[in-house]
Amino acid sequence: MRDACGRTIRYLRISVTDRCNYRCRYCMGEDGVSLHTHAQMLTFEEIAEIVAACAQLGIDKVRLTGGEPLVRRGIATLCAMLKGIPGISELTLTTNGSLLPLYASDLKAAGVDRLNISLDTLDPEKFRSITRVGTLSDVLDGLDAAERTGFLHTKLNVVLIGGFNNDEIGAFVEMTKDRALSVRFIELMPIGDTADWDAKHFLPSSAVLAAVPALERIDTDGVAVRYRVPGYVGTVGLIPPMSEKFCDRCNRIRLTADGKLKPCLHSAQEVSLKGLHKAELFQTLKLAIYNKPKEHHMDCLHPSGSVRRMYEIGG
Ligand code: SAM
Ligand code: SF4
Repeated sequence: MRDACGRTIRYLRISVTDRCNYRCRYCMGEDGVSLHTHAQMLTFEEIAEIVAACAQLGIDKVRLTGGEPLVRRGIATLCAMLKGIPGISELTLTTNGSLLPLYASDLKAAGVDRLNISLDTLDPEKFRSITRVGTLSDVLDGLDAAERTGFLHTKLNVVLIGGFNNDEIGAFVEMTKDRALSVRFIELMPIGDTADWDAKHFLPSSAVLAAVPALERIDTDGVAVRYRVPGYVGTVGLIPPMSEKFCDRCNRIRLTADGKLKPCLHSAQEVSLKGLHKAELFQTLKLAIYNKPKEHHMDCLHPSGSVRRMYEIGG
């Protein structure tokens, strides 16, 4: 359906849990405390009912995220339930990748179409430092497992952090030389803990073009502008929510693990769907989508208007 600004809303991102096995410094506090009890979380049946109502309103693309979606027990069962809903043509999942060696084949069998894997550094010590607890080889094994299982067009999401990984831009781009990967550089956003981070950490995505002048623009893919080094198999995407905000072409809404619909990532506006069914659910969703905020007002001096941190929303 169209919102009040005339944008066609087709894409629902669902955070299936606010728990995670990592504690990335730009996303979560060190304690990783989950604010929600099991009773507050949407059940699989509730998520499926919401997705079915969204499908009736024109949503055809669903992405599962978190927290870490693969720590939610039975995640493949949920995937199969959602993929079976009439109108849902694409089901994707964003993961830190560490548990893919265990779950990649179950996800494939459940009908997941594509994976996004988050990875911000190729250096094992820096990886431990940014995730606080993670091991780089687990994620690289996860990426291999995804490829072996037959997942195609996997996207590798790299959050650009000045003074942390800007010296690795070239190494990430080189990963696209022989692998059919899309490496996507995402600008760091000031939300939660990063609202207080020094401006030097917020790099524009154009830093990637400056670091690798050989990149040639191909096209746009949703919110990403795609590039390729001539002759390389994979592609490079730039996602600039800060330097070139793309609110006028935003086609997405978000659902939190405790059942709040967030029509805009960076707005405090939320609508509770937990406990709503049938006509009441449908009408509430329709109104919330219609009233999607026009744009965000965030830059490195003005943090996101969201009161939730990234791990509660799903990115
Ligand atoms: N745990 C999964 C993962 O890491 O891919 C899914 C959830 S995570 C919140 C989704 C995405 O949000 C990840 O790619 C992560 O790097 C990104 N993210 C988290 N905090 C961010 C921030 N402050 N700015 C930009 N991206 C952020
Ligand atoms: Fe967990 Fe993903 Fe947040 Fe890292 S970015 S703490 S992996 S939810």
